[in-house]
Amino acid sequence: MMSDEERDVGKGEQGQVRLLGITGAGTMGSGIALAALAAGLTVTLQDIASEMLERAQQYLERYLSRKGQEAALRRLRLTTRLEDLADADVVIEAVPERLELKQEVFRRLDELCAPTAVLASNTSTLPITAIAAATSTPERVGGMHFFNPAAVMPLVEVVRGAQTGDETVNTLVALAERMGKTPVVTRDTPGFIVNRVARPFYLEALRLLGEGVATHEQIDRVVELGGGFRMGPFRLMDLIGVDVNLASTKSIYEQTFHEPRFRPHPLQQRMVQQHALGRKTGRGFYRYDGEIAAEAPSPPELTPRSGTVWISPGTWAPGLAELCREVGYALVHEPEGVPVAAVVVSGRGEGAREHVRWFDERLPKNVPLLCQAADVTVGEVATWVARPERLVGFDGLFFASGRVATLVASPMLAEEMRAAVETFVTGLGRLPVWIEDAPALILPRIVFTLVNEALFAVGEGVADGVTIDRAMKLGANYPQGPVAWAEEFGYARVLAVLDHLRTEYGEERYRAAPLLRRRARQLAAGNG
Ligand code: NAD
Repeated sequence: MMSDEERDVGKGEQGQVRLLGITGAGTMGSGIALAALAAGLTVTLQDIASEMLERAQQYLERYLSRKGQEAALRRLRLTTRLEDLADADVVIEAVPERLELKQEVFRRLDELCAPTAVLASNTSTLPITAIAAATSTPERVGGMHFFNPAAVMPLVEVVRGAQTGDETVNTLVALAERMGKTPVVTRDTPGFIVNRVARPFYLEALRLLGEGVATHEQIDRVVELGGGFRMGPFRLMDLIGVDVNLASTKSIYEQTFHEPRFRPHPLQQRMVQQHALGRKTGRGFYRYDGEIAAEAPSPPELTPRSGTVWISPGTWAPGLAELCREVGYALVHEPEGVPVAAVVVSGRGEGAREHVRWFDERLPKNVPLLCQAADVTVGEVATWVARPERLVGFDGLFFASGRVATLVASPMLAEEMRAAVETFVTGLGRLPVWIEDAPALILPRIVFTLVNEALFAVGEGVADGVTIDRAMKLGANYPQGPVAWAEEFGYARVLAVLDHLRTEYGEERYRAAPLLRRRARQLAAGNG
């Protein structure tokens, strides 16, 4: 049974949040205030620093008048006294990210505010449960995690701490909706949904760079043009701040008692040591000091072609056969005649070695052989064939859906074969990007470790798959949710890539989520 007090928690007379209190008027506090005022709420914005209040006021005036909503400013009260939040129905805390500071603020709010008020923290990385523990009423404390810029980003993670009550969650969900946001409810686990699931996006990119597989420009290009992400990992780290990104990673790593998947990369540390923090210091992975950056090459147009391509059927290069046909190639699945190229797309688990050998033996000299290389290294394939000098590995999985061809030369690749492969992929409208041989190349490695992290989170009950996908699209601008990617490519394929990474590196960080393994097995058994 719910007490009357619980039922009314956080709500004014009409059952709605009437007055919103915000403590901390910095980047996030002022952004949250803007979203609330624009949505018609009455706001009391508090900060210990009066100059921060002045800056917030200027910011709010500028944006509200731009939208013709200056009248909303009449619903705003600014104050340096925390006591002035006593009449709020909900208070959102956005003070600096230090646990003791937040606990002190919540301890005071707990005393000041009406027992019906709901108290929420905008923390990105601290446990809501630990913040709530500073109060005598942890059931009315929850997380309300906005994304920067808060007035623009549509997602709010509503965090259910270990002791958070259902009414508190409902109030925060309703408040987020009233502010025009899409709320997702998440359990109180390190990084919540978005900051946790996004970790591999940065960490695998840093490892690729650290291992010398590709340059940061190449990785960004492949992720953007090939994967459809709005910003590659390095451009994004420069925007967020390399230090801020490192701090989130460290926090999640520490809170999970050093889970290897979250281990920070020494490159980040080295960047911070030299104050190469990104845009804010004029230099990060890229330079922002006015030097004109070289124009990024754009993907080529499709070019009409003739001739035959041998292509093995398979799902490791979805859409590739259609693309070849679109430009005018005739396709054969059995070796015959002299083709312009041969493409083997089967995965290693499907008799790949015999398949590649079979193609290689029948393929005339001086015709390039392209092999799908998401779950096998090109170095290994080179040991299977008689003519490694015409062997090139490529990322078949993301070939047709993106605009790049991620290519790996076999150790003895002949120059004219390299040129022939470039001509082939360019005609198919794909920008060639040559990288070093490495397990799972760039996109399968980054995207499938994201999928794996999402499935760990689902398995741990952080949120369901639909919620996680929605959160990643709205909170991190991903072109697709990780679970939808797993569905698209197939759980078995994602698992094969992770197992390949795990074998090649011998590292725990690539172990597959139990749910991934289970789903792959169920589908293989035909009862998924
Ligand atoms: P900020 O430094 O811009 O603002 C913090 C504000 O809190 C400052 O104006 C400061 O004067 C004020 N303050 C300090 N002590 C106070 C106190 N005791 N009482 C009232 N005000 C106090 O920081 P921010 O970037 O707005 O971050 C605030 C919170 O939001 C942090 O928990 C952060 O992790 C979280 N967050 C930040 C982002 C982001 O991208 N910046 C995104 C999501 C969440």
